[in-house]
Amino acid sequence: MSADFIFPPPPCPSVAVAQDARRFPVRRIFCIALNYAAHAREMGKEPVKDSNAEPPVFFAKPADAVVESGATIPYPTLTNDLHHEIELVAALGCGGANIPVEQALDCVFGYAAGIDLTRRDLQTAARNAGRPWDMSKGFDHSAPIGAIRPAAEIGHPTRGRIALSVNGVLRQSGDLSDLIWTVPEIIAALSRNVALAPGDLIFTGTPSGVGPLIAGDRADGEVEHVGSVTVTVGK
Ligand code: MN
Repeated sequence: MSADFIFPPPPCPSVAVAQDARRFPVRRIFCIALNYAAHAREMGKEPVKDSNAEPPVFFAKPADAVVESGATIPYPTLTNDLHHEIELVAALGCGGANIPVEQALDCVFGYAAGIDLTRRDLQTAARNAGRPWDMSKGFDHSAPIGAIRPAAEIGHPTRGRIALSVNGVLRQSGDLSDLIWTVPEIIAALSRNVALAPGDLIFTGTPSGVGPLIAGDRADGEVEHVGSVTVTVGK
């Protein structure tokens, strides 16, 4: 017997899978902060990798923040400083709690290129006031993402160029080998915070060169061996 709802349940957000008519259903979107040293420094923080002293910092976006690559999004409300952050995204096909690092990659269905759009002015103001900065990250249309490439096809990339251009001008460029917390370490640490499950997306951090997008800009991101993502900011 199916449940009776007082109104129809919202549609399940989803992401395209490369060369597959089926889509990846999104359950939750997690992100890690400051996971490339050069980006940590440009944000005024010294990079740290010591899970006892300072475990990785996670935040989340709503599942329905996903945006199909190629889409045009409205310039977000309440900001004058919308920033791009190109990221490798891990898409989970299984989950669990307290996942050991050695087993973490077994949970990755595949990878995509994504953009962690950020209302930087709101984030900075909240950070300086010691307040939560959810609304600087988890707003509508804040997670453009390209098609997922299955790990069964491409493996688990640990090196390769990660870059983003705005209107054809290179803004961000780094290498996956510069990740401070690796994908299996991120999954293991995150699964100690919350139980993970199939459909979870994890944005793994951005290299340096983050900067503003203004109305009319087109951002093109790519992760070598994984794929690309494009978003245009509407006027
Ligand atoms: Mn980010």
